[in-house]
Order: sequence, then C-alpha cells, then structure tokens
Amino acid sequence: MSATPLLEVKGLSAGYGAAAVLRDIDLAVRPGQVAVVLGANGAGKTTLMRALAGTLPHTGTISIDGVDVSNSRPDIMLRHGVSLIPQGRGTLTTMSVRDNLRVGAVSRKDRAGIAADLERWFEIFPRLAERSEQIAGTLSGGEQQMLAVARALMSRPRLLLCDEVSLGLAPLIVQGLFDRLRQVNEESGTALLLVEQNAELALDISSQVYLLEVGSVAASGTTESFRENNSIRQAYLGY
Ligand code: ATP
Repeated sequence: MSATPLLEVKGLSAGYGAAAVLRDIDLAVRPGQVAVVLGANGAGKTTLMRALAGTLPHTGTISIDGVDVSNSRPDIMLRHGVSLIPQGRGTLTTMSVRDNLRVGAVSRKDRAGIAADLERWFEIFPRLAERSEQIAGTLSGGEQQMLAVARALMSRPRLLLCDEVSLGLAPLIVQGLFDRLRQVNEESGTALLLVEQNAELALDISSQVYLLEVGSVAASGTTESFRENNSIRQAYLGY
C-alpha cells in the first residue's frame, strides 16, 4: 500500500463570509481507497466537498500525492485528478446524454481514449447507452444520477468526490448505483470520497469513516471499528 496519501487534508477551515462552517478538519484518502463522511444535516459535508473540489476558499492545506494544492481552482483540481459529483447532479439538462459525457472529458486531448471511455461507461451504465441521444433533462432521477457519475468519470479522476449521490432516489436504484460505484473502484482503482445520508450502503463499500459534527471531525477510523462501537453505531445507524 502506498505510504503517501492520494488526498491529505490538514487543519482545513472554511465557511461563507463571516460564518465559519468547517473547523480544523484532518482527513486522508489513500490511492484506490473508499472513504465516507457521515454527519447530520448542516454538519458541513457539502461545504467540505466544495473546498476539496476548489469551489470554496479555505485555510489549512489540501495535498494531492504530497503536493500542496490548497485553494486551487476546480480546473486545476481536475488536472490533479479530483472530480466532484455535486449534490443535485449538475448534469447539463438541455444537452444529450452523449454530449454530457463529452463535456466531462473536456480537460482531455486523447481522442481515442475518450472514445474508448465512452464505450466503457456505456457498458457499465447500459441505460445511458440506450438513451445516448436523449436530452439529459428528460431522464429519470436515477438515470440522471448515473449520468452525473459517468460524466465525472470521463475526466479519468483518481479521486471521485460524491456528494449525496443517493439523494431522492428509490432504494433499488440506489443499490444499483452503489454497485456501479464499487465496480468502478475495483476495476479502475478510482478512489472515492462519499458524503452520504444513506450510511448503511456507503459503509458497505467503504474502508474508512469520518464523522463530521458541527463542522469538525468528531471521530474517524476503519469501517470495522465504526461498526464495533455501540454508541457510534446507534447514533449513526440506529441499532
Ligand atoms: P445537508 O446534509 O443538509 O446537505 P451538509 O452537512 O452538507 O448538510 P452544508 O451544506 O455544508 O451541510 O452546510 C453547512 C452549514 O453552512 C449550514 O449551516 C448551512 O446553512 C451553511 N451554508 C451552506 N451553504 C451556504 C451559503 N452558500 N451561504 C451561507 N451559508 C451556507
């Protein structure tokens, strides 16, 4: 296992104007690892994802492969392999499925590689292949979420930040989506940092957990240790 984390966050604080939201966050994701951030509504999960993706200024440091990329713009973060699936999907609703995927590859120049990846994601998400010429805004919620995932993957990220990808989707669709995320992680070695309300499903595919409470990391550890801790399990899983 690589000694240098893919993503390392140290003492990160961020907020909106005078309103401090995140305080002194430390976290790390190793290459190919799946980690999940759990926390109540308003804990600061989306704020954390935005800081990591380069859309929110912050103090403290964010490093990729040991290189300080703090306060880099989203396009620079993308170049470092960090891609965000924002909450609420963020697909381009007036464009076709295929064009959405092409936009996802905008930072790349390798035409043959892009074409091969299109085919690959169409294989993994056959629904998108069937609907490749359909306008994205007319897809179902689950299909749009799959498109958001596939579009982010078109940049060939090394770290995919997933902000509540399960939000508003039926349980069966959510299960399918998590199965695909697991497949992408296992086959491509793409590391995932998940922010999820659906703790149980996220834990199923994660090896590391961070608990965010009122803008701070209240606890962190392996998924195993999380499940073995009765009070934490009861608070976050309800049993
Ligand atoms: P949820 O699970 O409800 O999405 P969250 O953990 O993702 O919550 P954030 O969206 O990060 O939480 O919000 C954290 C805090 O920051 C909240 O108190 C929220 O009201 C505040 N906040 C979020 N976005 C803004 C903004 N653009 N301007 C001012 N305050 C904001």
